[in-house]
Amino acid sequence: MKKGKKLYEGKAKIIYASPEKNLVIQHFKDDATAFNNQKKATIDGKGILNNRISEYILQNLNQIGIKNHLVKRINMREQLIKFVEIIPIEFIVRNIATGSLTKRLGIEEGTVLNHPLIEYCLKNDKLGDPLISREHILTFEWLNVIELDWIYNECKRINDFLQGMFRAVGIKLVDFKVEFGLTHESGKTQIILADEISPDTCRLWDSITDKKLDKDRFRKDLGDLIPAYTEVAK
Ligand code: 5GP
Repeated sequence: MKKGKKLYEGKAKIIYASPEKNLVIQHFKDDATAFNNQKKATIDGKGILNNRISEYILQNLNQIGIKNHLVKRINMREQLIKFVEIIPIEFIVRNIATGSLTKRLGIEEGTVLNHPLIEYCLKNDKLGDPLISREHILTFEWLNVIELDWIYNECKRINDFLQGMFRAVGIKLVDFKVEFGLTHESGKTQIILADEISPDTCRLWDSITDKKLDKDRFRKDLGDLIPAYTEVAK
């Protein structure tokens, strides 16, 4: 498929125009960043693995009725996706305490949460993606109450599905981040799951050893990121 002009470049992906109406091409780069862009590297092959893993997950989510932007994978690094207007909020779902939750609230690392915890962060690099509350989202009208409740519920469904899927292959889904976007088709606006779901956006631990199989290998200089992502892909 012929790529059009570059529409947007993020830290790990590039969006190009496509020849088809309302569709764009999502290109997965090998770039890795952490700590609000302070740590950067290129990891050969990461984009290929994330493209494949995210395709698998979004296809499966689609099959259980979770509408998302994926149309099809085009090649090793690219997917054809629906054009969406990204909602500037990161939805974080946690099953086990780690990362910023343990730092912020002093919760013991590895604590299994009684219920999945959903947190919201404003997507704003300059401000360091600050944690926001449901009230912030409603006050500033980033979403209305119906949209927010719908996304909250969708996050829980995604979590249930992913937890089961990973558990079946000996991996604990510790936490993950998802993003949603608005599509405007035939005069109708709809919210759908967008972006990617991959070891870049999830924390995944081996069920028995708690070995980290995700981007924390880069964040914490643990090495062997590609073998870990390959294990997830398999
Ligand atoms: P934490 O808030 O503990 O740093 O991250 C919680 C979860 O959300 C982790 O799985 C982490 O990978 C994901 N996450 C949070 N913010 C971002 C982000 O800006 N980019 C990516 N790729 N993942 C994020």
